[in-house]
Amino acid sequence: MENIERQDLLAAYYTGNFLEQGKYRQEYSLVEIKKRERDLSPLLQRLPADILRFLEIAGDLAEKYQIRLYLVGGLVRDIFLNIENRDLDLVLEGDLETYIRELAEVLKVEYTYNAWFRTGNLALPGGLNVDLAGLRREYYRYSGALPEVEPADDILEDLFRRDYTVNTLVLILNEGKWGCLLDYFNGLEDLREGKLRILHPFSFLDDPTRIIRGARLASKIGFTFEEVSAALLKEALTEADFSHLSLERVLKELELLFATPINPALFPLLRNYPIFKLLNLEVEIGEELPEQAEELEAYLAELSEKNYNIEEWVLRTALFFADAGEEISGWKLRSDYKDIFLAYYRYKSLLPELDRDLAADELAAKLKALRMEELLLLLVKGRGRRIKENILRYMKELRDIELKINGKDLLASGLKPGPLFREILDAVYRERLKGSLYTREEQLAYARDLIRERGGNKE
Ligand code: ATP
Repeated sequence: MENIERQDLLAAYYTGNFLEQGKYRQEYSLVEIKKRERDLSPLLQRLPADILRFLEIAGDLAEKYQIRLYLVGGLVRDIFLNIENRDLDLVLEGDLETYIRELAEVLKVEYTYNAWFRTGNLALPGGLNVDLAGLRREYYRYSGALPEVEPADDILEDLFRRDYTVNTLVLILNEGKWGCLLDYFNGLEDLREGKLRILHPFSFLDDPTRIIRGARLASKIGFTFEEVSAALLKEALTEADFSHLSLERVLKELELLFATPINPALFPLLRNYPIFKLLNLEVEIGEELPEQAEELEAYLAELSEKNYNIEEWVLRTALFFADAGEEISGWKLRSDYKDIFLAYYRYKSLLPELDRDLAADELAAKLKALRMEELLLLLVKGRGRRIKENILRYMKELRDIELKINGKDLLASGLKPGPLFREILDAVYRERLKGSLYTREEQLAYARDLIRERGGNKE
């Protein structure tokens, strides 16, 4: 393809005037499409026994019907990289519904089938997750749209809708061709060289979430974007309009990116490729961020044994959202996630107040409305020894303190319902925070004294 022609088409795409969005794109392929075959059956033996056994059963059943079954996607890539992966993606060339029903019967497991998308799922024992799909072709009506899905004619078409060449490797599972690798896009070479290469120039525009998928492979596995893909990526990030891209889809990819501890390699990557532009956010990757991320990971590791149910990926993402409060306020999103994303924006004004010696009850009063994630965010973003000490003291010593008495006890002690209830419980709580009134009896006695003092007894 001529460079000028490519530029014209891309320019049209950026302005939303690209009439050929739906067109079959193989003519624009960035690599030579060729059927490259290799016997890789010995490599399959590296797989854990249960996965291997499943693939054999699935392959035999496909062979019985004389239809091709392929192992595709991340697992094929990860076999080469020697990375454990228990998510299997299979593609079948024939009638998926009949096949999946029978496979589930043979294996005696439950299955789901979605006739619209021609996809299915099997949940196998031992946490093995199997996604199955028929051959699919996808096209995008505009940048960031959900794809239109149609049955594809062959596996090559199915592979052409994928993100990077390293994810286009497939292994045939039918007997006779068992373990035969099909490599139409020279993905094996890219895999050996650790290169992320998109398949055609419109890839990031069709589906901008591929940018985040790439950042994940880059930061976690150490891949790098090859030159043309990197240029197209940068161009998309500066020129493209992401306003039609759904927040939900972007967050789903961010969830995968931030599901595991942040790797320091992510920071230079984000400076180079500002992926948060997909959310229309300008995020500055400041010098302080790597240190804050390291600190956050240390706390998360320390807290992992406790049962706090911390939303780790939301918290890691929030680290980058510190200055984006106003934009995020307008997002339609689960309120607990939104609270965490907005925590620093909402509570940073507390930080100077925490830079003092505070009595336990004063400290608790300032921080008691914050969830664990919000506290952690303030902790790693807050500067100064005293601020950090105060937040840590609250988290470790004060936050989990609960009273052993409640309103019912006050009622039973003769207090008339009214505002005194809250006042008295607060007073007991303050004493408890200061380090006394450990037992229920002590708390009750103290409360009763207060009731008497305040004259709150029922007539
Ligand atoms: P991993 O998360 O380890 O990369 P995976 O690559 O198998 O796993 P899945 O989300 O299970 O990822 O997707 C299966 C395959 O579908 C991928 O390997 C990729 O080829 C393709 N794919 C997934 N998402 C996209 C996307 N947004 N655009 C193009 N292809 C995609």
